[in-house]
Amino acid sequence: MAGPFRLRLYVEPESQKRRVELAAPIFEADFQNGLARAAANTCLEILGEKETLTGLEALATKIEDALSRYLGSILAPAQGNIACAEGCDHCCHQIVGATLPEVLVIYGKIRELPAEQRRERISRVQQSRARAEGLSPAQRYSEEHPCPLLQEGRCSVYSFRPLSCRGVHSLNAEACSSTLRDPARRRRFQEQGEGIPCYREPGLTVHAMSAGLQLGVSEVYGLDMSPVDLTLALAWLLSNPSAVSEWLSGHPLPARLRAGHHSADPKRAHVTGERSPK
Ligand code: SF4
Repeated sequence: MAGPFRLRLYVEPESQKRRVELAAPIFEADFQNGLARAAANTCLEILGEKETLTGLEALATKIEDALSRYLGSILAPAQGNIACAEGCDHCCHQIVGATLPEVLVIYGKIRELPAEQRRERISRVQQSRARAEGLSPAQRYSEEHPCPLLQEGRCSVYSFRPLSCRGVHSLNAEACSSTLRDPARRRRFQEQGEGIPCYREPGLTVHAMSAGLQLGVSEVYGLDMSPVDLTLALAWLLSNPSAVSEWLSGHPLPARLRAGHHSADPKRAHVTGERSPK
């Protein structure tokens, strides 16, 4: 480990296992710091001594599943109030930020599709990339820019969707729809964060788990875990056969793939997961 960074690596005396703790709190809320530490330790448990493609896919899947279970438990008492439902895709028309292991899970699923479906999916991703490249987050939040993984209003990779897609829990589907389609409401939402009532805890939980994933992989294994734009990163993987091996060997991700930091949580902006020097 090249640290010291945001994590401190130590060996547990009894088990002799490598563990990490936060060198200092990242978030104001204790529960977020606990989740970030747990996610970072999951990186060590799943990847062990050496990061591999299979290990990184298993890691992303494990943290995604853990997030969904956790959210399921904290939101159980509020289920009746949640407006999100199958076939509701208003929140799938914007930049989706994800770490590369999350994108690799979806990339692997696309590669497993039967040939015709695979060709169709790849073509859709590349068309979306061509329309999206160079646009700002504000321009991408539009009916014109659906996620290329949407199929007839449904997520075609629902079980494997990124962490950020799992954190959206609206209390008013009509507000989601009108904010996406009405330019004045959209502007107010983008500039002031107003217009769509949502549960706050799921978003905070996503930030915490994603931070742990980013820090665990970047600081312990030296890979660039800067959040990327799902559409651009998928297109990059699908058109560049050496992309995965280059990233695994420590190359930084192309800057044009970066999703930026659009979080409302100011502390979150400091957790970049950028590759640490080996
Ligand atoms: S990955 Fe799925 S849930 Fe996420 S934006 Fe795309 S279609 Fe929507």
